[in-house]
Amino acid sequence: MAVDKSTILKHIHIQKGDITKMEVDAIVNAANPSLLGGGGVDGAIHRAAGPQLLEECRTLGGAQPGEAKITKGYRLKAKYVIHTPGPVYRGGNHNEAAILKNSYYNSMRLAKDNGCTSIAFPAISTGVYGYPKEEACSIALSTIIEFMEKENFLIDVYFVLFDDDNYAIYTKHLQELS
Ligand code: ADP
Repeated sequence: MAVDKSTILKHIHIQKGDITKMEVDAIVNAANPSLLGGGGVDGAIHRAAGPQLLEECRTLGGAQPGEAKITKGYRLKAKYVIHTPGPVYRGGNHNEAAILKNSYYNSMRLAKDNGCTSIAFPAISTGVYGYPKEEACSIALSTIIEFMEKENFLIDVYFVLFDDDNYAIYTKHLQELS
């Protein structure tokens, strides 16, 4: 039987806080294309996971924006880290929306293929990469809903928002969908 939208919406959770603390099967890292660590959420994840994460990342050969690669979680409570570089926002006419969508879609694909039942996302690209937060939120929510519908696959999705702006935006958008 096909999973319906109201069931999907019950599996989407919005919370404020630090994604490195999440007890889920996979946390998603808003990485940069080198996959060798950086600032923001990427730095926080590497600090919390420990140096073995960087060692494994060195074997991956980087990732294109919108692509996703998976590693173990090492010292994290999460079993896996899914690393995806989002787009750098350059005005909106450089394929940014499609790339951001790919980051969410490909992360969901890896979660599914690795048997995950829960996944936590940060607000990819909305920090240093400068993506407008409202638009980024709308892409994040519509993409994970589309994935669950198309793949007939239910997973608990946590959006873990670090800043008040994103928390308010996600709460509002999710209410509008319900
Ligand atoms: P990007 O380069 O993709 O913009 P950033 O790490 O600069 O990545 O920011 C992405 C989002 O992650 C921002 O909204 C930022 O506030 C948030 N963020 C930073 N640290 C954490 C953390 N520990 N947990 C969850 N989100 C975080």
